[in-house]
Amino acid sequence: MITMAKARKQRKTFTIDDREIPFKEGETVMQAAAKAKIYIPHLCFNPEFTPNGSCKLCTCEINGRKTSSCSTKAEQGMQVKNETHELTMMRRTLVQMLFVEGNHYCPFCERSGNCQLQALAYDLGMTDLHFPRFNAKRNVDASHPDIMIDRNRCIFCELCVRASTEVDKKDIFSIAGRSINKRLVINSKSGDLKDTEMKATDKSAHICPVGCIIIKGEGFKTPIGQRIYDKHSIRDVGNIRPDSFIEEPSQTEVEKPVEQKKKIKVASCSLAGCFGCHMSFLDLDERIIELLEQVELSRSPLNDIKSCAPDCDLGLIEGGVCNTENIEVLRHFRESCRIIIAVGSCAINGGVPSLRNSIDVKACLDESYINGIGVVNPKIPTDKEIPYLLEKVYPIHEVIKVDYFLPGCPPSADAFWKILNDLLDGKEPELPYDLLHFD
Ligand code: SF4
Ligand code: SF4
Repeated sequence: MITMAKARKQRKTFTIDDREIPFKEGETVMQAAAKAKIYIPHLCFNPEFTPNGSCKLCTCEINGRKTSSCSTKAEQGMQVKNETHELTMMRRTLVQMLFVEGNHYCPFCERSGNCQLQALAYDLGMTDLHFPRFNAKRNVDASHPDIMIDRNRCIFCELCVRASTEVDKKDIFSIAGRSINKRLVINSKSGDLKDTEMKATDKSAHICPVGCIIIKGEGFKTPIGQRIYDKHSIRDVGNIRPDSFIEEPSQTEVEKPVEQKKKIKVASCSLAGCFGCHMSFLDLDERIIELLEQVELSRSPLNDIKSCAPDCDLGLIEGGVCNTENIEVLRHFRESCRIIIAVGSCAINGGVPSLRNSIDVKACLDESYINGIGVVNPKIPTDKEIPYLLEKVYPIHEVIKVDYFLPGCPPSADAFWKILNDLLDGKEPELPYDLLHFD
């Protein structure tokens, strides 16, 4: 008979961040971690399918060497580091690379709020893209009556490939090409989804962790606030721990402003944006009165002052950079303001205005002034007073140095409140998970 002590002695274990984890022979580090309810970030791993180790987000330091935890077998006495600053920074960089490599514009993606890439970016505290956008131009396949594929959002996790082969037994998807030419292909003669046996009920139609394979007619139906990752972090939902779903997340704690804060000078402007971020700022409602006791407004559309005081503490900039005047305004802000915050999706990644980035400027002007519906007296205006359009719309950090990023389309009033109060308190601004939104 095996005693408890003997069983414990025979039990195989390894450690993750110094916590002892049991495992069964043949299990990977990721599988054992999941069973022990330890979250290791991942995108291409799904417990239902053979691991393929392509996304590299689950990279851990295993016995001192960085390697994928989804494809490394657990071994007795193994030492795994998962939650280190270095690994978080590396994972954040990987996610930023995925964002710029595809066209990830969360505010108008129907997977927003239900997307694992987005939720992982929140979890890793990503507030900006860091790298220039690739502006991918990959085909969208809307040929199927029930399913649509926007290849510009594919992260090449191969989950659809594995689901189609291993579960649906249809082998509909493949990944072809390398590097920048890598793409999702459909295994039909025409290359179109309509010429396959794919059905909306197939596993592969529901496995995509991002907004690449989507079911038609279902988009945007889930009200904001009821989408999976609006209320729950990827650590609770993920795709490996649905059992630990948290029922009631704690309410957003809005920090009370500390009395006697030093008054700071704040300027704001809107470049190529819709003023939505400024409108959201106004949603602070009566808190604005409280704020005005701490803040003096310099240049801003809110007071119509046209020039920044030279000694501003803070510049809030909404909108992307689309023309020569925007560049001038940005430089003026950078010269005048000690701290610059890029506010909202357009300032941070180009947002809606940058949808024109994959279209030639001449074609945009022709469409607007010559061929557009309802155009009278077709002529492209050439007045000297009108600033020149740039070839592309740029996020502001590609033109000037940006100190902090306040994401959202628009960021909520609570997010403005939190970041401004952090600065007033002399703290490094930091947004908690529930205030971090890209849409
Ligand atoms: S919601 Fe997800 S798939 Fe959609 S744009 Fe954002 S990151 Fe990309
Ligand atoms: S379509 Fe979706 S599931 Fe398939 S490889 Fe691309 S991101 Fe992954």
